[in-house]
Amino acid sequence: MTTILSIKDLRKSYEGGFEALKGLTLDIEQGEILALLGPNGAGKTTLISTICGITSATSGNVTVGGHDIQQDFRAARRMIGLVPQEIALEPFETVANTVRFSRGLFGKPKDDARIEEILRKLSLWDKRKNAVKELSGGMKRRVLIAKALAHEPRVLFLDEPTAGVDVELRKDMWEIVAELKQQGVTIILTTHYIEEAEAIADRIGVINNGELLLVEQKATLMAQMGKKQIEVQLA
Ligand code: ATP
Repeated sequence: MTTILSIKDLRKSYEGGFEALKGLTLDIEQGEILALLGPNGAGKTTLISTICGITSATSGNVTVGGHDIQQDFRAARRMIGLVPQEIALEPFETVANTVRFSRGLFGKPKDDARIEEILRKLSLWDKRKNAVKELSGGMKRRVLIAKALAHEPRVLFLDEPTAGVDVELRKDMWEIVAELKQQGVTIILTTHYIEEAEAIADRIGVINNGELLLVEQKATLMAQMGKKQIEVQLA
C-alpha cells in the first residue's frame, strides 16, 4: 500500500479563536475511497479547505504525494482535484471548454485526446458542445467532477456531493464514484449520510467538533458498531 495523502496533527483556528480542527491525523492510501461522516459544523469543509491549501492551517502539516501543501503549494495542489459543495460553473461556457480551461489553469498541455478521455469517463462526451446552462442538475455535477479531474490529479475531494440532491441523482453519484475508483482515482468525500458512506466507501471516518472520532475499514466498523452507534457519534 502506498500513502498518497498524509495529515499530521492538523489544527485550524478561525479569527476570534474558534478551533474548527483540533489536531487531526490520518493517512490515505492510493486508490481508496474514504468517506468522512459528520453533522453540520463538524469541520468537514474546513478540513478539505485546509488540506487543499485554500485555508491556511494553524499548525500541523499535510503532504500529497510527498509534497507539503504549505511549503510546496503548487506541486501539492497539482495532485488534488476539488469538487466544492456549491455548483460554481460558467453557465455560458461549453462543457468541453470548461474542462479545457481548468486543465490550462494548472499549466497542463493542450491535449484534446486527454480532454476526450475525461469527458468520456464522466459520460459527457455527447454533451461536449452544450453550454453548461443547458444541462440538468445531475449533468452539471458531472461537469464539476470532470473539471476537477481536468489536470489529472491523484486525489479527488468531493465535498458533500449529494447534499440536497434527489435519490436518483444520489445513486448516480455513487455510480460515478465507483467508476472512478475502478479507474484508480483516490477519493475522499464528505457526507451527512451513513447509507452513503456504507454504499461507496472502503473506509469510514467520523468527524465531529473538529475531531476525528474514529476511522475504520467499512466492514470492521459496521461489524463493531452498526449504524445506530455511528448515529450517536454524529449527534
Ligand atoms: P456542513 O456540513 O454544514 O457543511 P462542515 O462539517 O463542513 O459543516 P465547516 O463548514 O468546516 O463544517 O465548519 C466548522 C465550524 O467552523 C463551524 O462551527 C463553522 O461555523 C466554523 N467556521 C467555518 N468557516 C468559518 C470562518 N470563516 N470563520 C469562523 N468560523 C468558521
